[in-house]
Amino acid sequence: MNILVINCGSSSLKFQLINAQSEELIAKGLCERIGIPGSQMTYAPKGGEKIEKAEDMPDHTAAIRLVLNALSDEKHGVVKSLDEIGAVGHRIVHGGESFAASTVINDEVMKAIEDCNDLAPLHNPANLIGINACRKLMPDTPMVGVFDTAFHQTMPERAYLYGIPYRYYEDYKVRRYGFHGTSHSYVSHRAAELLGREYEDLKMIVCHLGNGASISAVQNGKCVDTSMGLTPLEGLIMGTRSGDLDPAIIEFLCGKEEKTVHEILNVLNKESGVLGLSEGYSSDFRDLEKGYNGGEAPSIRAMNGFIYRVVKYIGAYTAVMNGVDVICFTAGIGENNSFIRKEVCAHLAYLGIGIDEEENAKRGEEVLISTKESRTKVLVIPTNEELAIARETFALVK
Ligand code: AMP
Repeated sequence: MNILVINCGSSSLKFQLINAQSEELIAKGLCERIGIPGSQMTYAPKGGEKIEKAEDMPDHTAAIRLVLNALSDEKHGVVKSLDEIGAVGHRIVHGGESFAASTVINDEVMKAIEDCNDLAPLHNPANLIGINACRKLMPDTPMVGVFDTAFHQTMPERAYLYGIPYRYYEDYKVRRYGFHGTSHSYVSHRAAELLGREYEDLKMIVCHLGNGASISAVQNGKCVDTSMGLTPLEGLIMGTRSGDLDPAIIEFLCGKEEKTVHEILNVLNKESGVLGLSEGYSSDFRDLEKGYNGGEAPSIRAMNGFIYRVVKYIGAYTAVMNGVDVICFTAGIGENNSFIRKEVCAHLAYLGIGIDEEENAKRGEEVLISTKESRTKVLVIPTNEELAIARETFALVK
């Protein structure tokens, strides 16, 4: 069965068509600037050449229509008819407390996702628009929702509650939810497979280090803590997001800069993190690494801040689980940046970790980078959220 995986943002839509049995990627692509002048679609069938086309996409339904046309196109298509798409898997950012697992989408589920809009106002409405567009164009094809928050729903109360009046949780569901759950789940399962160990027997720390970054602690097959919170702003220092800070800073800065809370939150989301620490130099770790190696203070400051926060969370999660068997690195930085991995691990000698420099120099592949003697194993595992979504979807519709 072929599964269409859709990741729908407010003005963009990423898609992959995956054969569920062979797990082969059949085609993938991206629609950009949906609803904005100058929209374009990129489409890449497996083995064929990448096609970039300027196309008018006034809304998401138009974008999905173009995706379906491309997939079934006589010349560049990969299916003869849309009947060859057995199901659609949708990435959904926030499932609140309603979804601890993926689910087949019906009207009741749509309503429950809508009820979470408050918790992810930038993402959930866009996800819903994508689902509605697909349901309109493929009314008989089953749709599955796969939630970024679901994997973290196993966290115990002591990890997900904030130290604020309990009624804020009761009345408004203010709590830690965590994100990147599909990636944390995929990588932790893969780590157990690669080590030839039972998933339920391990204590694992997964470092998903991309432009958005989060860490999770997975003990005996369950997520027990994660660094992102009610929103993806909490936790690590990220590309442009601040991560943890004293909440009193917000009022303080509003006063000093004569800005509203909304404006300061915008700064914390878009102008902070390593971009802010490097005085606006870059949010991209390729640039920062060059700056660091060139002895430039802004890049050194930003890289050191980022590494320190990762080290701090690993220490906290080791304490939470009373030990750790394996640490995994994934996502853009975790998979590709050997310098960051080495620097983080240099602070983990207390866990009996030694790094094999030759293995650590590899990028973008599954590799054990800790030495044979290491007490705690360290793995690099490229994440594959689309494949994970396709697997979840197939499991529910087959
Ligand atoms: P993501 O959000 O997972 O796409 O990750 C984006 C981050 O990964 C950026 O900071 C990039 O600098 C970093 N990254 C992506 N590819 C590479 C690469 N080939 N080498 C080093 N860093 C990379």
